[in-house]
Amino acid sequence: MRRFETAREAALALRPDRPVYGFRPLVLEEDARAFLSAFRGTTAYAVKTNGEPFVLERLAAAGVTAFDVASPAEFEAARGASPDALQLYMHPVKAQSDIRLALETYGIRTLALDHEDEVAKILRIVRAQDLDPEDVTLFVRLATKGHAAYELSKKFGAAPSHAVELLERIDRVGFRAGLTFHVGSQVEDLGTYERALGTAAWVRGRAGVELAGLDIGGGFPARYGEDPKRPAPPAPEVGKLVKDIEGEIDAWGLGDLPLVAEPGRVIVARCLSVIVRVLLKKGQRLYINDGVWSSLSDSWTGRITLPARLIPDPARRRAQKTSGEKLAPFRVMGATCDSVDILSRPFWLPDSVDTGDWIEIGHIGAYSLALRTRFNGFYPDDFVEIATPFEAGEGPEGFASLETRGGAAG
Ligand SMILES: *Cc1c(COP(=O)(O)O)cnc(C)c1O
Repeated sequence: MRRFETAREAALALRPDRPVYGFRPLVLEEDARAFLSAFRGTTAYAVKTNGEPFVLERLAAAGVTAFDVASPAEFEAARGASPDALQLYMHPVKAQSDIRLALETYGIRTLALDHEDEVAKILRIVRAQDLDPEDVTLFVRLATKGHAAYELSKKFGAAPSHAVELLERIDRVGFRAGLTFHVGSQVEDLGTYERALGTAAWVRGRAGVELAGLDIGGGFPARYGEDPKRPAPPAPEVGKLVKDIEGEIDAWGLGDLPLVAEPGRVIVARCLSVIVRVLLKKGQRLYINDGVWSSLSDSWTGRITLPARLIPDPARRRAQKTSGEKLAPFRVMGATCDSVDILSRPFWLPDSVDTGDWIEIGHIGAYSLALRTRFNGFYPDDFVEIATPFEAGEGPEGFASLETRGGAAG
């Protein structure tokens, strides 16, 4: 990766017509260390959030020693970055061939489930491989309720009384048993974790089975952009939220258990930006070379406010410099011909933005590279390294707003 001090330098040097990702390794290390030092249990980074080898390698270098994995490709990516790291296979519904591979080839001994037939699947393979069930820990995934940008309990999780039965069954067969939940993503409300912990405590009390661990999943909120027109309480600082969750773990009498967390977004969101180019300005519409089928689907579906910065093309004649200029809302049209490829909320940018300018969109490290498609033949894959954090120096000049009230022309 070529290295630049800022995205502006990169844009002016490369004059890219295709999106260029700006990777900030020091920011990644800083955010990984912040979580590791806040959480007293094992931090298992959720590989699905961003599984690029250069990200996983940096995380390992920053001290991450465990990974939450869900597929053979993720087993391999985690092993490639850190051969000795612990791998936790936390997908509740798995293919038999994948379970076999996990146990046999990758030495994985921790798995999650939310149904008795999954216990049976795993048991068959454990017996066939002549493993001791005592060496295998099965985490029962609990269904939870709460307010997240994404709700995942619609898809996975056992109801409390079902979870009690599953724990007893796992214990009877001779496996070690654990409890886990995953409250969703970008969860800013401590109450969501608290309710899940309350459920875990109830299930533990009813089951009367010795537990090998409690895994509180992911969902910790990353810092994103701010909309000055819509002052919102700042997202909780991760260290504080983690401490508050640990307080709840203790208050629910679960503090004696070995703990695991599976952060994704909170660790990788800030480490990546994308430099996009304005291909055409049409009134208050900006047609850019990225969109919901490339790097921006998460901000679109998750209703996330991304920070943005205008990088005017100096080759274009302009009346004055942009700093201090009035921000105006622009409707952003993605690169493909697809009619859903329009960002649902306006970007607020200096009024002078025009065809040929670049926009650096910050904090897209989570669920961006992993969700890129080749739709319509567009697949951004160019990277540079950037030394300065997005927030440092000149502040963001704009943001992708949550504002939906009529302001967005389009
Ligand atoms: C996606 C996922 C995570 C990571 O979630 P974030 O919101 O990115 O922290 C953790 N655990 C499980 C089981 C997941 O599916």
